[in-house]
Amino acid sequence: MSGTFRENGVTTAVHLVSAAALAGLALLSAGCSGESDGAKPPKQTASKTTSDAGPSQGASESPDPPPQKVADPPPQKPEPAIIYRPDDARPQHDDQALADLGIHLYESRRLKLYSDLPPELVRPLPELMDRAYAAWEEYFGPLPPDRAESDFQMTGYIMRDRRLFLETGLLPDDLPDFPHGRHRGAEFWMNEQEHDFYRRHLMVHEGTHCFMTIMPQVSPPLWYIEGMAELFGTHRTSAPGRSTFRIMPGASLDVRGWGRLQILAGERSAGRVQSLDEIFAYSGNSFLETKAYVWSWALCKFLDTHPRYRDRFHELRDYQEGSAFVRRFQEVFQPDQVEMNRDWAFFAADLDYGYDVERSVIDWKSGRALEVGSEAEDDVAADRGWQSSGLSVKPGETYEISADGRVVLAVHPRPWESEADGVTIRYHADRPLGMLMARIVPDTVTKIAQKATVGVGKRNVLTPTEPGTLYFRVNDFWGELADNSGAYRVKVRRLPSPPKRSR
Ligand SMILES: [Zn+2]
Repeated sequence: MSGTFRENGVTTAVHLVSAAALAGLALLSAGCSGESDGAKPPKQTASKTTSDAGPSQGASESPDPPPQKVADPPPQKPEPAIIYRPDDARPQHDDQALADLGIHLYESRRLKLYSDLPPELVRPLPELMDRAYAAWEEYFGPLPPDRAESDFQMTGYIMRDRRLFLETGLLPDDLPDFPHGRHRGAEFWMNEQEHDFYRRHLMVHEGTHCFMTIMPQVSPPLWYIEGMAELFGTHRTSAPGRSTFRIMPGASLDVRGWGRLQILAGERSAGRVQSLDEIFAYSGNSFLETKAYVWSWALCKFLDTHPRYRDRFHELRDYQEGSAFVRRFQEVFQPDQVEMNRDWAFFAADLDYGYDVERSVIDWKSGRALEVGSEAEDDVAADRGWQSSGLSVKPGETYEISADGRVVLAVHPRPWESEADGVTIRYHADRPLGMLMARIVPDTVTKIAQKATVGVGKRNVLTPTEPGTLYFRVNDFWGELADNSGAYRVKVRRLPSPPKRSR
Protein backbone atom coordinates (compact mmCIF):
# COMPACT_ATOMS: atom_id res chain seq x y z
CA MET A 1 0.00 0.00 0.00
CA SER A 2 1.11 3.56 -0.48
CA GLY A 3 3.40 5.05 2.07
CA THR A 4 4.57 1.80 3.57
CA PHE A 5 8.16 1.38 4.61
CA ARG A 6 10.60 -1.38 4.04
CA GLU A 7 11.88 -3.69 6.62
CA ASN A 8 15.58 -3.07 6.95
CA GLY A 9 17.36 -6.42 6.66
CA VAL A 10 16.78 -7.60 10.19
CA THR A 11 19.24 -10.20 11.34
CA THR A 12 19.20 -12.34 14.40
CA ALA A 13 21.71 -14.30 16.38
CA VAL A 14 19.97 -17.55 15.61
CA HIS A 15 22.01 -19.91 13.52
CA LEU A 16 20.58 -20.70 10.16
CA VAL A 17 21.98 -24.18 10.07
CA SER A 18 20.85 -26.03 13.12
CA ALA A 19 22.76 -28.51 15.17
CA ALA A 20 20.52 -31.13 13.67
CA ALA A 21 21.83 -30.22 10.25
CA LEU A 22 25.36 -30.70 11.45
CA ALA A 23 24.37 -34.05 12.85
CA GLY A 24 22.92 -34.91 9.48
CA LEU A 25 26.32 -34.31 7.99
CA ALA A 26 27.81 -37.03 10.12
CA LEU A 27 25.22 -39.43 8.76
CA LEU A 28 26.16 -38.66 5.21
CA SER A 29 27.64 -42.07 4.61
CA ALA A 30 24.17 -43.54 4.99
CA GLY A 31 23.68 -41.96 1.60
CA CYS A 32 21.19 -42.05 -1.16
CA SER A 33 18.65 -44.71 -0.43
CA GLY A 34 14.97 -44.28 -1.15
CA GLU A 35 14.64 -43.58 -4.81
CA SER A 36 18.17 -44.17 -5.73
CA ASP A 37 21.04 -45.74 -3.93
CA GLY A 38 21.35 -45.90 -0.16
CA ALA A 39 24.88 -45.52 -1.33
CA LYS A 40 27.93 -44.22 0.36
CA PRO A 41 28.73 -41.27 -1.83
CA PRO A 42 32.03 -40.13 -0.37
CA LYS A 43 34.76 -41.84 1.54
CA GLN A 44 34.71 -45.07 -0.38
CA THR A 45 36.71 -43.93 -3.34
CA ALA A 46 40.39 -44.39 -3.48
CA SER A 47 43.26 -42.18 -2.53
CA LYS A 48 43.70 -38.84 -0.89
CA THR A 49 43.76 -35.66 -2.86
CA THR A 50 46.65 -33.62 -1.69
CA SER A 51 48.75 -35.64 0.71
CA ASP A 52 49.73 -38.46 -1.62
CA ALA A 53 49.76 -36.33 -4.64
CA GLY A 54 52.66 -38.21 -6.16
CA PRO A 55 55.46 -36.71 -8.16
CA SER A 56 54.95 -33.08 -7.46
CA GLN A 57 58.54 -31.89 -7.81
CA GLY A 58 59.29 -31.21 -4.21
CA ALA A 59 56.04 -29.40 -3.69
CA SER A 60 55.22 -28.48 -0.16
CA GLU A 61 52.07 -27.38 1.55
CA SER A 62 54.01 -25.05 3.80
CA PRO A 63 53.03 -21.50 2.98
CA ASP A 64 56.15 -20.00 4.52
CA PRO A 65 59.48 -20.29 2.76
CA PRO A 66 62.41 -20.56 5.13
CA PRO A 67 63.93 -17.29 6.28
CA GLN A 68 66.67 -16.19 3.93
CA LYS A 69 70.02 -14.47 4.21
CA VAL A 70 71.32 -12.06 1.67
CA ALA A 71 73.89 -14.46 0.23
CA ASP A 72 71.46 -17.36 -0.19
CA PRO A 73 70.08 -18.23 -3.58
CA PRO A 74 66.57 -16.96 -4.17
CA PRO A 75 64.02 -19.17 -2.41
CA GLN A 76 62.11 -21.73 -4.36
CA LYS A 77 58.56 -20.59 -4.64
CA PRO A 78 56.43 -23.33 -3.09
CA GLU A 79 54.45 -25.07 -5.75
CA PRO A 80 50.98 -26.25 -4.93
CA ALA A 81 50.63 -30.00 -4.57
CA ILE A 82 49.12 -31.54 -7.67
CA ILE A 83 45.69 -32.92 -6.96
CA TYR A 84 44.79 -36.13 -8.71
CA ARG A 85 41.55 -37.89 -9.19
CA PRO A 86 41.55 -41.50 -8.00
CA ASP A 87 42.75 -44.01 -10.60
CA ASP A 88 40.14 -45.59 -12.80
CA ALA A 89 39.17 -48.70 -10.85
CA ARG A 90 36.25 -49.86 -12.98
CA PRO A 91 36.23 -53.54 -13.88
CA GLN A 92 36.86 -54.69 -17.45
CA HIS A 93 34.25 -56.98 -18.96
CA ASP A 94 34.23 -59.53 -21.77
CA ASP A 95 31.94 -57.59 -24.04
CA GLN A 96 31.54 -60.37 -26.60
CA ALA A 97 30.58 -62.94 -23.98
CA LEU A 98 28.08 -60.47 -22.51
CA ALA A 99 26.63 -59.73 -25.94
CA ASP A 100 26.09 -63.45 -26.46
CA LEU A 101 23.99 -63.39 -23.29
CA GLY A 102 21.99 -60.38 -24.47
CA ILE A 103 23.81 -57.63 -22.55
CA HIS A 104 25.11 -55.06 -24.98
CA LEU A 105 27.58 -52.24 -24.59
CA TYR A 106 26.84 -48.67 -25.65
CA GLU A 107 29.72 -46.28 -25.26
CA SER A 108 30.48 -42.58 -25.40
CA ARG A 109 33.37 -40.50 -24.11
CA ARG A 110 31.92 -40.33 -20.60
CA LEU A 111 29.92 -43.53 -20.30
CA LYS A 112 30.12 -47.24 -20.94
CA LEU A 113 26.58 -48.49 -20.60
CA TYR A 114 25.66 -52.17 -20.39
CA SER A 115 22.06 -53.10 -20.82
CA ASP A 116 19.74 -55.92 -21.80
CA LEU A 117 17.05 -53.47 -22.93
CA PRO A 118 16.05 -53.10 -26.57
CA PRO A 119 18.80 -51.08 -28.32
CA GLU A 120 16.49 -48.22 -29.33
CA LEU A 121 15.88 -47.42 -25.66
CA VAL A 122 19.53 -47.39 -24.70
CA ARG A 123 21.38 -46.06 -27.71
CA PRO A 124 20.69 -42.33 -27.05
CA LEU A 125 21.69 -42.50 -23.38
CA PRO A 126 25.51 -42.27 -23.47
CA GLU A 127 25.33 -39.07 -25.51
CA LEU A 128 22.94 -37.60 -22.98
CA MET A 129 25.44 -38.44 -20.24
CA ASP A 130 28.15 -36.60 -22.19
CA ARG A 131 25.94 -33.53 -22.30
CA ALA A 132 25.25 -33.87 -18.57
CA TYR A 133 28.99 -34.11 -18.02
CA ALA A 134 29.50 -30.82 -19.82
CA ALA A 135 26.80 -29.30 -17.58
CA TRP A 136 28.50 -30.59 -14.40
CA GLU A 137 31.85 -29.25 -15.58
CA GLU A 138 30.30 -25.90 -16.26
CA TYR A 139 28.65 -25.80 -12.85
CA PHE A 140 31.25 -27.45 -10.59
CA GLY A 141 34.41 -26.90 -12.61
CA PRO A 142 36.47 -29.67 -14.22
CA LEU A 143 37.59 -32.72 -12.25
CA PRO A 144 41.30 -32.99 -11.51
CA PRO A 145 43.29 -35.21 -13.89
CA ASP A 146 44.14 -38.77 -12.94
CA ARG A 147 47.70 -40.04 -13.07
CA ALA A 148 47.09 -41.87 -16.32
CA GLU A 149 45.76 -38.63 -17.84
CA SER A 150 42.68 -40.48 -19.01
CA ASP A 151 39.22 -39.05 -19.54
CA PHE A 152 36.82 -39.47 -16.66
CA GLN A 153 34.37 -42.14 -17.72
CA MET A 154 31.65 -43.97 -15.86
CA THR A 155 30.28 -47.47 -16.30
CA GLY A 156 26.55 -47.94 -15.91
CA TYR A 157 24.23 -50.92 -15.97
CA ILE A 158 20.54 -50.67 -16.79
CA MET A 159 18.94 -53.95 -15.94
CA ARG A 160 15.73 -55.52 -17.07
CA ASP A 161 16.63 -59.07 -16.05
CA ARG A 162 18.46 -58.42 -12.81
CA ARG A 163 19.36 -62.09 -12.36
CA LEU A 164 21.39 -62.03 -15.56
CA PHE A 165 23.50 -59.18 -14.22
CA LEU A 166 24.01 -61.01 -10.93
CA GLU A 167 25.06 -64.23 -12.65
CA THR A 168 27.52 -62.44 -14.89
CA GLY A 169 28.99 -60.53 -11.95
CA LEU A 170 28.03 -57.16 -13.41
CA LEU A 171 25.83 -56.59 -10.37
CA PRO A 172 28.12 -57.23 -7.39
CA ASP A 173 26.47 -59.32 -4.72
CA ASP A 174 27.85 -57.05 -2.00
CA LEU A 175 25.83 -54.13 -3.36
CA PRO A 176 22.86 -53.58 -1.03
CA ASP A 177 19.45 -53.82 -2.59
CA PHE A 178 17.95 -50.73 -4.17
CA PRO A 179 14.53 -49.94 -5.61
CA HIS A 180 15.66 -47.67 -8.46
CA GLY A 181 19.36 -46.92 -8.74
CA ARG A 182 22.61 -46.91 -6.89
CA HIS A 183 26.15 -45.75 -7.50
CA ARG A 184 29.59 -46.68 -6.22
CA GLY A 185 32.72 -44.90 -7.33
CA ALA A 186 32.46 -44.38 -11.09
CA GLU A 187 29.88 -47.15 -11.56
CA PHE A 188 26.12 -47.14 -11.24
CA TRP A 189 23.33 -49.65 -11.49
CA MET A 190 19.71 -49.00 -12.38
CA ASN A 191 16.59 -51.05 -12.60
CA GLU A 192 14.68 -50.55 -15.83
CA GLN A 193 12.08 -47.80 -15.61
CA GLU A 194 8.72 -47.65 -17.29
CA HIS A 195 9.02 -44.13 -18.67
CA ASP A 196 11.72 -42.81 -21.02
CA PHE A 197 12.02 -39.55 -19.14
CA TYR A 198 12.45 -41.17 -15.77
CA ARG A 199 15.02 -43.67 -17.15
CA ARG A 200 17.08 -40.70 -18.38
CA HIS A 201 16.47 -38.73 -15.18
CA LEU A 202 17.65 -41.58 -13.00
CA MET A 203 20.72 -42.15 -15.16
CA VAL A 204 21.77 -38.50 -14.91
CA HIS A 205 20.95 -38.55 -11.17
CA GLU A 206 23.35 -41.46 -10.61
CA GLY A 207 25.92 -39.94 -12.96
CA THR A 208 25.79 -36.72 -10.95
CA HIS A 209 26.68 -38.71 -7.84
CA CYS A 210 29.62 -40.31 -9.66
CA PHE A 211 30.89 -36.91 -10.73
CA MET A 212 30.30 -35.07 -7.46
CA THR A 213 31.70 -37.74 -5.16
CA ILE A 214 34.60 -39.17 -7.13
CA MET A 215 37.05 -37.10 -5.11
CA PRO A 216 37.78 -38.40 -1.61
CA GLN A 217 36.68 -36.36 1.40
CA VAL A 218 33.78 -34.80 -0.43
CA SER A 219 30.98 -34.64 2.12
CA PRO A 220 28.39 -31.92 1.74
CA PRO A 221 25.07 -32.63 3.48
CA LEU A 222 22.72 -35.23 2.08
CA TRP A 223 20.06 -32.75 0.99
CA TYR A 224 22.70 -31.21 -1.28
CA ILE A 225 24.08 -34.51 -2.63
CA GLU A 226 20.60 -35.80 -3.47
CA GLY A 227 19.10 -32.43 -4.35
CA MET A 228 21.81 -31.64 -6.89
CA ALA A 229 21.48 -35.12 -8.44
CA GLU A 230 17.75 -34.48 -8.77
CA LEU A 231 18.39 -30.99 -10.09
CA PHE A 232 20.66 -32.16 -12.92
CA GLY A 233 18.46 -35.17 -13.60
CA THR A 234 15.57 -32.83 -14.34
CA HIS A 235 16.34 -31.99 -17.96
CA ARG A 236 14.81 -31.12 -21.28
CA THR A 237 16.04 -32.19 -24.70
CA SER A 238 14.87 -29.54 -27.13
CA ALA A 239 16.57 -30.76 -30.28
CA PRO A 240 18.81 -33.68 -31.21
CA GLY A 241 22.04 -33.25 -29.31
CA ARG A 242 20.80 -30.34 -27.20
CA SER A 243 19.75 -30.75 -23.60
CA THR A 244 19.17 -28.30 -20.79
CA PHE A 245 19.65 -29.46 -17.23
CA ARG A 246 18.37 -28.00 -13.91
CA ILE A 247 15.06 -27.02 -15.51
CA MET A 248 11.75 -26.28 -13.86
CA PRO A 249 9.43 -28.78 -15.56
CA GLY A 250 6.60 -27.04 -17.36
CA ALA A 251 4.10 -29.90 -17.33
CA SER A 252 3.85 -33.40 -15.97
CA LEU A 253 3.82 -34.84 -19.50
CA ASP A 254 7.31 -33.44 -20.09
CA VAL A 255 8.69 -35.42 -17.16
CA ARG A 256 6.73 -38.67 -17.20
CA GLY A 257 7.41 -40.93 -14.25
CA TRP A 258 9.12 -38.14 -12.29
CA GLY A 259 6.11 -37.16 -10.20
CA ARG A 260 7.99 -34.90 -7.78
CA LEU A 261 5.49 -32.07 -7.92
CA GLN A 262 2.52 -34.36 -7.40
CA ILE A 263 4.19 -35.74 -4.30
CA LEU A 264 4.92 -32.21 -3.13
CA ALA A 265 1.31 -31.15 -3.64
CA GLY A 266 0.17 -34.18 -1.65
CA GLU A 267 2.54 -33.37 1.20
CA ARG A 268 1.27 -29.80 1.20
CA SER A 269 -2.36 -30.90 1.37
CA ALA A 270 -1.50 -33.20 4.25
CA GLY A 271 0.06 -30.26 6.14
CA ARG A 272 3.59 -31.63 5.81
CA VAL A 273 5.39 -28.71 4.19
CA GLN A 274 9.05 -28.83 5.20
CA SER A 275 10.97 -25.92 6.69
CA LEU A 276 14.59 -25.29 5.73
CA ASP A 277 15.80 -26.65 9.06
CA GLU A 278 13.84 -29.85 8.57
CA ILE A 279 15.48 -30.42 5.18
CA PHE A 280 18.93 -29.53 6.47
CA ALA A 281 18.52 -32.26 9.08
CA TYR A 282 17.76 -35.10 6.63
CA SER A 283 19.69 -38.26 7.43
CA GLY A 284 20.24 -41.38 5.35
CA ASN A 285 17.03 -42.86 6.71
CA SER A 286 15.04 -39.85 5.50
CA PHE A 287 15.84 -40.96 1.95
CA LEU A 288 14.03 -44.25 2.41
CA GLU A 289 11.06 -42.15 1.34
CA THR A 290 10.83 -40.42 -2.02
CA LYS A 291 9.55 -37.24 -0.41
CA ALA A 292 13.03 -36.52 0.96
CA TYR A 293 14.28 -36.43 -2.65
CA VAL A 294 11.41 -34.16 -3.56
CA TRP A 295 12.14 -31.62 -0.82
CA SER A 296 15.89 -31.80 -1.41
CA TRP A 297 15.32 -31.11 -5.10
CA ALA A 298 12.95 -28.27 -4.28
CA LEU A 299 15.48 -26.67 -1.95
CA CYS A 300 18.31 -26.94 -4.49
CA LYS A 301 16.00 -25.58 -7.18
CA PHE A 302 15.06 -22.66 -4.93
CA LEU A 303 18.67 -21.82 -4.06
CA ASP A 304 19.85 -22.40 -7.62
CA THR A 305 17.27 -20.07 -9.11
CA HIS A 306 16.26 -17.35 -6.66
CA PRO A 307 18.05 -14.08 -7.53
CA ARG A 308 18.72 -13.34 -3.84
CA TYR A 309 20.51 -16.64 -3.22
CA ARG A 310 21.73 -18.24 -6.44
CA ASP A 311 25.21 -16.67 -6.59
CA ARG A 312 26.03 -17.59 -3.01
CA PHE A 313 24.66 -21.07 -3.57
CA HIS A 314 26.73 -21.64 -6.68
CA GLU A 315 29.87 -20.56 -4.83
CA LEU A 316 29.40 -23.53 -2.46
CA ARG A 317 30.75 -25.78 -5.22
CA ASP A 318 34.18 -24.76 -3.91
CA TYR A 319 33.40 -25.98 -0.37
CA GLN A 320 32.77 -29.68 -0.81
CA GLU A 321 35.32 -31.27 1.52
CA GLY A 322 34.82 -32.21 5.14
CA SER A 323 32.66 -29.75 7.05
CA ALA A 324 33.52 -26.82 4.75
CA PHE A 325 30.13 -26.82 3.07
CA VAL A 326 28.10 -26.49 6.25
CA ARG A 327 30.42 -23.84 7.64
CA ARG A 328 30.39 -21.80 4.46
CA PHE A 329 26.65 -22.19 4.03
CA GLN A 330 26.16 -20.76 7.49
CA GLU A 331 28.55 -17.88 6.86
CA VAL A 332 26.97 -16.72 3.65
CA PHE A 333 23.30 -17.30 4.44
CA GLN A 334 23.00 -16.61 8.15
CA PRO A 335 22.78 -12.82 7.72
CA ASP A 336 19.59 -13.32 5.67
CA GLN A 337 18.12 -16.09 7.75
CA VAL A 338 14.73 -14.52 8.41
CA GLU A 339 14.25 -13.41 4.85
CA MET A 340 15.43 -16.72 3.43
CA ASN A 341 13.09 -18.73 5.65
CA ARG A 342 10.24 -16.54 4.46
CA ASP A 343 11.21 -16.74 0.79
CA TRP A 344 11.44 -20.51 1.12
CA ALA A 345 8.06 -20.68 2.89
CA PHE A 346 6.39 -18.89 -0.03
CA PHE A 347 8.23 -21.04 -2.59
CA ALA A 348 7.33 -24.28 -0.82
CA ALA A 349 3.71 -23.21 -0.47
CA ASP A 350 3.29 -22.48 -4.18
CA LEU A 351 5.87 -24.53 -6.13
CA ASP A 352 4.20 -26.09 -9.15
CA TYR A 353 4.87 -26.94 -12.79
CA GLY A 354 6.41 -23.98 -14.56
CA TYR A 355 6.80 -22.00 -11.32
CA ASP A 356 8.24 -18.68 -12.39
CA VAL A 357 10.85 -17.85 -9.77
CA GLU A 358 11.80 -14.47 -11.22
CA ARG A 359 8.23 -13.21 -11.29
CA SER A 360 7.56 -14.59 -7.84
CA VAL A 361 10.37 -12.75 -6.07
CA ILE A 362 8.72 -10.78 -3.29
CA ASP A 363 9.55 -7.18 -2.55
CA TRP A 364 9.38 -7.34 1.23
CA LYS A 365 7.48 -4.57 2.98
CA SER A 366 6.03 -4.89 6.44
CA GLY A 367 5.35 -3.23 9.71
CA ARG A 368 2.70 -0.63 9.04
CA ALA A 369 -0.52 -0.89 11.04
CA LEU A 370 -3.73 0.83 9.99
CA GLU A 371 -5.76 2.84 12.50
CA VAL A 372 -9.47 2.03 12.78
CA GLY A 373 -11.28 3.94 10.08
CA SER A 374 -8.21 4.59 7.94
CA GLU A 375 -7.38 2.97 4.65
CA ALA A 376 -4.52 2.26 2.30
CA GLU A 377 -4.47 1.42 -1.36
CA ASP A 378 -2.06 0.04 -3.90
CA ASP A 379 -1.85 -1.84 -7.19
CA VAL A 380 -1.67 -5.63 -7.31
CA ALA A 381 -0.06 -6.64 -10.60
CA ALA A 382 -1.31 -9.64 -12.54
CA ASP A 383 2.12 -10.63 -13.88
CA ARG A 384 3.75 -11.13 -10.47
CA GLY A 385 3.44 -13.60 -7.60
CA TRP A 386 2.62 -12.50 -4.07
CA GLN A 387 2.91 -8.78 -3.40
CA SER A 388 3.22 -7.31 0.07
CA SER A 389 0.71 -4.71 1.11
CA GLY A 390 3.17 -3.55 3.73
CA LEU A 391 0.32 -3.72 6.26
CA SER A 392 0.66 -5.68 9.45
CA VAL A 393 -2.55 -7.16 10.82
CA LYS A 394 -3.57 -9.02 13.97
CA PRO A 395 -6.30 -11.34 15.21
CA GLY A 396 -9.27 -9.39 16.53
CA GLU A 397 -8.96 -6.78 13.80
CA THR A 398 -11.32 -6.47 10.84
CA TYR A 399 -10.53 -5.25 7.35
CA GLU A 400 -12.67 -4.49 4.38
CA ILE A 401 -10.94 -5.16 1.12
CA SER A 402 -12.16 -3.95 -2.24
CA ALA A 403 -10.59 -4.26 -5.65
CA ASP A 404 -11.31 -2.32 -8.86
CA GLY A 405 -10.03 -2.58 -12.37
CA ARG A 406 -9.35 -5.25 -14.92
CA VAL A 407 -6.37 -7.37 -15.75
CA VAL A 408 -5.44 -9.45 -18.80
CA LEU A 409 -4.66 -13.08 -17.98
CA ALA A 410 -3.71 -14.40 -21.37
CA VAL A 411 -3.05 -13.01 -24.79
CA HIS A 412 -3.66 -16.08 -26.95
CA PRO A 413 -5.88 -16.99 -28.62
CA ARG A 414 -7.39 -13.65 -27.64
CA PRO A 415 -6.94 -11.27 -24.70
CA TRP A 416 -8.65 -12.75 -21.69
CA GLU A 417 -9.78 -10.09 -19.25
CA SER A 418 -10.84 -10.47 -15.66
CA GLU A 419 -12.11 -8.44 -12.77
CA ALA A 420 -11.20 -9.28 -9.18
CA ASP A 421 -13.93 -11.90 -8.76
CA GLY A 422 -12.13 -13.93 -11.42
CA VAL A 423 -13.42 -15.76 -14.46
CA THR A 424 -14.97 -19.11 -13.79
CA ILE A 425 -13.92 -20.71 -17.05
CA ARG A 426 -10.69 -21.95 -15.50
CA TYR A 427 -9.57 -22.58 -11.96
CA HIS A 428 -6.25 -22.67 -10.16
CA ALA A 429 -5.99 -23.79 -6.52
CA ASP A 430 -9.78 -24.22 -6.47
CA ARG A 431 -10.34 -20.53 -7.24
CA PRO A 432 -11.27 -18.84 -10.51
CA LEU A 433 -8.39 -17.42 -12.49
CA GLY A 434 -8.11 -13.68 -12.02
CA MET A 435 -9.55 -13.69 -8.52
CA LEU A 436 -7.84 -11.41 -6.01
CA MET A 437 -6.25 -13.64 -3.38
CA ALA A 438 -4.93 -12.74 0.07
CA ARG A 439 -2.46 -14.40 2.41
CA ILE A 440 -1.40 -13.37 5.92
CA VAL A 441 2.12 -14.42 6.80
CA PRO A 442 4.17 -13.66 9.94
CA ASP A 443 7.50 -12.01 9.11
CA THR A 444 9.44 -14.80 10.83
CA VAL A 445 7.58 -17.62 9.10
CA THR A 446 9.33 -20.92 8.22
CA LYS A 447 6.40 -22.66 6.55
CA ILE A 448 2.99 -21.55 5.33
CA ALA A 449 -0.16 -23.59 5.86
CA GLN A 450 -2.68 -23.85 3.05
CA LYS A 451 -5.36 -22.19 5.15
CA ALA A 452 -3.32 -18.97 5.22
CA THR A 453 -4.48 -18.28 1.67
CA VAL A 454 -8.00 -17.04 0.99
CA GLY A 455 -9.97 -15.83 -2.01
CA VAL A 456 -11.01 -12.19 -1.73
CA GLY A 457 -12.68 -11.16 -4.97
CA LYS A 458 -14.04 -7.66 -5.57
CA ARG A 459 -15.16 -7.00 -2.03
CA ASN A 460 -14.72 -8.90 1.18
CA VAL A 461 -14.11 -8.69 4.91
CA LEU A 462 -10.99 -10.20 6.36
CA THR A 463 -10.55 -11.15 10.04
CA PRO A 464 -6.99 -12.35 10.61
CA THR A 465 -6.56 -15.50 12.68
CA GLU A 466 -2.86 -14.90 13.16
CA PRO A 467 -0.63 -11.84 13.14
CA GLY A 468 1.40 -11.09 10.06
CA THR A 469 1.82 -9.07 6.92
CA LEU A 470 -1.00 -9.02 4.38
CA TYR A 471 -0.10 -10.16 0.84
CA PHE A 472 -2.12 -10.15 -2.36
CA ARG A 473 -1.90 -11.77 -5.76
CA VAL A 474 -4.03 -12.27 -8.83
CA ASN A 475 -4.90 -15.95 -9.07
CA ASP A 476 -3.26 -17.73 -12.00
CA PHE A 477 -1.11 -20.76 -12.74
CA TRP A 478 2.44 -20.15 -11.57
CA GLY A 479 3.84 -20.91 -14.99
CA GLU A 480 1.51 -18.50 -16.75
CA LEU A 481 2.34 -15.15 -15.22
CA ALA A 482 4.46 -13.92 -18.12
CA ASP A 483 1.54 -13.25 -20.47
CA ASN A 484 -0.47 -11.31 -17.88
CA SER A 485 -0.76 -7.55 -17.73
CA GLY A 486 -2.54 -4.87 -15.76
CA ALA A 487 -3.28 -4.58 -12.06
CA TYR A 488 -6.18 -4.29 -9.65
CA ARG A 489 -6.44 -1.19 -7.50
CA VAL A 490 -6.86 -2.70 -4.05
CA LYS A 491 -8.15 -0.74 -1.09
CA VAL A 492 -7.80 -1.98 2.49
CA ARG A 493 -9.90 -0.25 5.12
CA ARG A 494 -9.74 -1.09 8.82
CA LEU A 495 -13.21 -1.45 10.29
CA PRO A 496 -14.16 -1.14 13.94
CA SER A 497 -14.14 -4.43 15.80
CA PRO A 498 -15.81 -6.76 16.65
CA PRO A 499 -16.11 -8.47 13.31
CA LYS A 500 -19.56 -9.29 12.00
CA ARG A 501 -18.51 -11.62 9.18
CA SER A 502 -15.50 -13.60 8.35
CA ARG A 503 -14.20 -15.80 5.67
ZN1 LIG B 1 20.84 -40.35 -5.20
